[in-house]
Amino acid sequence: MKKCTTKHGCGLMKDESEFDRNKLKSDGLNAICKQCNLKYKQNYRRTKKGLINQMYSNQKKNSERRKLPEPTYTKDELYDWVMAQPIFHVMFTDWEYSGYKKNMVPTCDRHSDIDDSYDSKPYDLSALRIQRWEDNKLKYHEDAKNGVNNKLSKPVAQYHIDGSLIAEFHSGRDAERKTGFRSANISKCCKGLIKQSGGYIWKYI
Ligand SMILES: [Zn+2]
Repeated sequence: MKKCTTKHGCGLMKDESEFDRNKLKSDGLNAICKQCNLKYKQNYRRTKKGLINQMYSNQKKNSERRKLPEPTYTKDELYDWVMAQPIFHVMFTDWEYSGYKKNMVPTCDRHSDIDDSYDSKPYDLSALRIQRWEDNKLKYHEDAKNGVNNKLSKPVAQYHIDGSLIAEFHSGRDAERKTGFRSANISKCCKGLIKQSGGYIWKYI
């Protein structure tokens, strides 16, 4: 048995299996029980600092997934930038009043109004926008309809007919911009509907 810390936790005696492992602690377990830890994390994400940290880690994960360089700013720089946006504070208050509804949570993402090739560039403060989760979701659908790149697009690779790799692109649209081949045909090839396009083989990465 082990006592959950009274500092951020319930202070109750609980079985060791009720604690997450933590290599940094002398007994190999978190000071706070699993249940309290979840609550603690949730409460943290409901602070401005916690929410902005979450935004930053999402952006880093997204960059990695899309094979982009890391964001051009640090976590602290993002914090300062977000805190300087009046709309963030309005949306944050609305989110609190909604009882923390998911569709009301303020998000921070790139907008395609300035430059529709944003999807192949690293995250930059100049291209960020604060939006509600719901509005952001609508934007993705809108962008998909208009053929602007978005989360739904997949990176593609270009190969010689002999199978040797030539280049990788962030998306079919990115490949079209750089090679001049139609992205519609590239994606047909990726999906296996045609064997080659433009004399090359294209595959999703
Ligand atoms: Zn506890």
